[in-house]
Amino acid sequence: MVIISPEVFFSTFVIVLGAIFGSFFNVCIYRIPNHLSIMWPASHCPVCNTPLKPWNNIPILSYLFQRGKCSFCGAKIHWHYVIVEVITPIVFFLIFYKSDFKFTLFFAKNIFFFSIAIILFFIDSFHKILPDILTIPLIFIGFIFTFFAKDISIINSLLSSIIVFAILYLISYIYYKSTNKIGLGGGDIKLFSAIGAFFGFQGVVFILFFSSVLAVFWYVFSKMKREDQLPFGPFIIFAAFLFFLFGNNIIQSYLNLFL
Ligand SMILES: [Zn+2]
Repeated sequence: MVIISPEVFFSTFVIVLGAIFGSFFNVCIYRIPNHLSIMWPASHCPVCNTPLKPWNNIPILSYLFQRGKCSFCGAKIHWHYVIVEVITPIVFFLIFYKSDFKFTLFFAKNIFFFSIAIILFFIDSFHKILPDILTIPLIFIGFIFTFFAKDISIINSLLSSIIVFAILYLISYIYYKSTNKIGLGGGDIKLFSAIGAFFGFQGVVFILFFSSVLAVFWYVFSKMKREDQLPFGPFIIFAAFLFFLFGNNIIQSYLNLFL
């Protein structure tokens, strides 16, 4: 008889859950920017409109077996669908790992944040918007999670969220008034406010710094033209995940340089 440890058993559960959620996030990524209901109708091919059968809807496997094509009309399925279905289980597993393989409020809080973050990452990449319907509730749900999870203080959460919102709003207002161009979108500002609510002051500072550095590197190395608009959301979200994984270690080693 094979005996598996609870860690392995629950990790497998979290990974499978991630694949199923990833599949649902794809629905959100496709439908929210197009103002379609995410509950109805059931998944269908966007080209031929044929409703998908359950076996067309198995995360990752259906994509592989159908060789990336709709099994009814042969239309190519966009690569982002399978990327989301692969990334989500990895993200879920790393959150479970960082939660010491326990289903705690800390686990629930981060699963919630990064679920919305994955959806926002792809919507912003493709449509250059961070929809209010996702970012604004995220701020308030962040306060609630922090209040119960207590991984940071609720005062830290509230103040970080309000202060980063006010500062970024002011900066973008001045920038807009002086150049007539939008430097930092309202969606980015609301996302940072949510980051304050979930990760507090340290998170805000870390993520502001690393997202800007990453965006500058991307801008330089991808040889973008000056007039091209670069969506900032994906960089913010990537930096947020770096903070979640390594933030405390990086901040500690940085502070040690001065102590
Ligand atoms: Zn089709």
